[in-house]
Amino acid sequence: MHVLVLGAGVTGLCAAYALVRDGHTVTIVDRASEVASEASYANGGQLSYSYVAPLAGPGVLRHLPEWLLRADGPVRFRPRLDPHQWLWGLRFLHACTARQSDLTTARLLRLAALSRTLMHRMVADEAIDFHFEHQGKLVVHSEPDAFTAARRQMELQRGSGAEQFALDADACLALEPALAAMRGRLLGGIHTPSEDAGDCRMFCLGLARILTQSNSATRFAFGTTVRQLLRLNGRVIGVATSNGVMEADAVVICMGIGARRLARPLGIDLPLYPLKGYSLSPTISHTALAPRISVTDYARKIVYARLGRTLRVAGIADMVGEDTSFDLARLSLLARHAEAAFPGGFAQSPLRPWCGLRPATPTGAPLLGPTAVPGLFLNVGQGALGFTLAMGSGQIVSDLVSGRPAPIDMDGLQG
Ligand SMILES: Cc1cc2nc3c(=O)[nH]c(=O)nc-3n(C[C@H](O)[C@H](O)[C@H](O)COP(=O)(O)OP(=O)(O)OC[C@H]3O[C@@H](n4cnc5c(N)ncnc54)[C@H](O)[C@@H]3O)c2cc1C
Repeated sequence: MHVLVLGAGVTGLCAAYALVRDGHTVTIVDRASEVASEASYANGGQLSYSYVAPLAGPGVLRHLPEWLLRADGPVRFRPRLDPHQWLWGLRFLHACTARQSDLTTARLLRLAALSRTLMHRMVADEAIDFHFEHQGKLVVHSEPDAFTAARRQMELQRGSGAEQFALDADACLALEPALAAMRGRLLGGIHTPSEDAGDCRMFCLGLARILTQSNSATRFAFGTTVRQLLRLNGRVIGVATSNGVMEADAVVICMGIGARRLARPLGIDLPLYPLKGYSLSPTISHTALAPRISVTDYARKIVYARLGRTLRVAGIADMVGEDTSFDLARLSLLARHAEAAFPGGFAQSPLRPWCGLRPATPTGAPLLGPTAVPGLFLNVGQGALGFTLAMGSGQIVSDLVSGRPAPIDMDGLQG
């Protein structure tokens, strides 16, 4: 089959990789001039297979006033005259129950486990240099309630295949001495030795090189904006683009936050809303003062990953619409927290600031597989976990396009 993959971010490239291995011919279409130009550009770099609990959780209502009123909290909601924002917000609040949160976590753990297996196979089979690190992850806590909840979550996840350990503050410092500056507020942490990290953009560039070099079944159409899905007798047969019509036997939407606009005219109302986040990528200046393993500061919702000589610092979730302008106050908040966490560990300039839009669903579960319109498939809504979940999502979509059953139980993950 000839399959059009719309979007050359990490989800589109992983889908293309799986489709080509399944024997299909693939054209990857993107409006940008190279891969990973939007949300996949400089994300947190975490391959976070065991930390998949969604943002929509039972603790959210308690935090709502802070999200609405505080300018310097890790999450910020700014109401706009946008019915979609309100509707998405209501659906998000509806999902903030312990039952829904546990359900979504179980679904995401299934998808993450598949993704981990496929990522490890990819790392073994293909020569992609993306600073892949298998150093584990430490989520540090400074609030008693949150630490208690994290230990409960750890018990809940026992049996999911990943070993996790609750550590007290001294054990955290023994494991990661670079956390010394946090000693005063450190209560403890959850350590998952099996977690990975890597540079998402370098991964995408490597994957694109493999796709183009190893066979002639892949074509990239860069600088091509997709404007409309085309149908014949009810079936999607291609797309209208800024460079003309492109036909295909199947079309997979992997356009991140851009997917909603494209699908709407076909009566498909995708519940996607952009959660804007920021990152910094300073150079590590003092190896011993920068973290070796991936660190998540749970209270501040900031992740730190060592990617080669770079310290990737990422965080913040702002519900401010499809806005990719830099808010300097938010960037400086991230920089201040990073400096307080790892003083002297990284060069103050350049900080290489970046922001991107996480394509989020209200529950946190992605939308994968066929739509009600024949020939049209979804691979969207991975939200804060797109790098982590891309390999599994891509394989599932390829299996479903090929007419095979999905490799995992798809309950709650369908489009
Ligand atoms: C600050 C931040 C930190 C993050 N940290 C992590 C992390 O540590 N771990 C993790 O797993 N995930 C993380 N994420 C999430 C992850 O980055 C995203 O989920 C993922 O990149 C989404 O990939 P995507 O391919 O769906 O979307 P994108 O990468 O946005 O790709 C979509 C592509 O579609 C193209 N496109 C859109 N509209 C059109 C159109 N009309 N025509 C043609 N092309 C179009 C765009 O140009 C783009 O290239 C983070 C995100 C942010 C913002």
